[in-house]
Amino acid sequence: MNFDIARKRMVDSQLLARGIKDQRVIDAMSTLPRHLFVEEAMAAQAYSDSPLPIGEKQTISQPYMVALMSELLALKGVEKVLEVGTGSGYQAAVLAKLADRVYTVERIRPLALRARKVLDSLGLLNINLKITDGTSGWEEESPFDAIIVTAGAPSVPPAYVEQLKPGGRLVIPVGGEAQQTLIRITRNADGTVIREEWGGCRFVKLIGAHSWRES
Ligand code: SAM
Repeated sequence: MNFDIARKRMVDSQLLARGIKDQRVIDAMSTLPRHLFVEEAMAAQAYSDSPLPIGEKQTISQPYMVALMSELLALKGVEKVLEVGTGSGYQAAVLAKLADRVYTVERIRPLALRARKVLDSLGLLNINLKITDGTSGWEEESPFDAIIVTAGAPSVPPAYVEQLKPGGRLVIPVGGEAQQTLIRITRNADGTVIREEWGGCRFVKLIGAHSWRES
């Protein structure tokens, strides 16, 4: 399997062909070895057009969804970003290429430890990882220029909007257990917000004190 060719095909047919325009997102996903973020047995499928299992009943998101959510954050390289739902660490790696500092939170310890290992092996030094329930955000490190939540919530946990800087962007899937709508919230300087809908999506559940309860 030639991963360089598979990655180029992914970028052309899944990202560019579907309208991803942010060149920095395209460059990051053109270079990052996504196959290292999945289990070895799944490596050949790492660049396919779908989410993949990563263990613990969790998934690495579809490449297009990673690109779309990253693009919606409108990062220039100077930002402090919070990710809730580290999972495999792939989205955190993309963010590390797009922003100045990344703070990422995962509630499942084995996933977090594996992600930390891969991120360290790639020399991505601007990522702080914490193992906890991320539904309260990361107050000590707030405010953030951008927050991305890579699991679906029934409604927007209030801490995320509170922990955004004026002008900051929050991207989060909101809706039912099986299907959600991708929402972008921009916080204005006066504390009011702009809420935009960016289409349907399917994420695993955001589980925690301010979201779904564990079943
Ligand atoms: N961003 C990930 C990646 O690049 O592989 C994909 C994330 S996966 C779709 C969702 C992740 O959110 C899972 O690993 C899950 O354990 C995690 N998660 C769910 N609820 C959480 C919470 N309250 N705090 C932190 N992580 C949570």
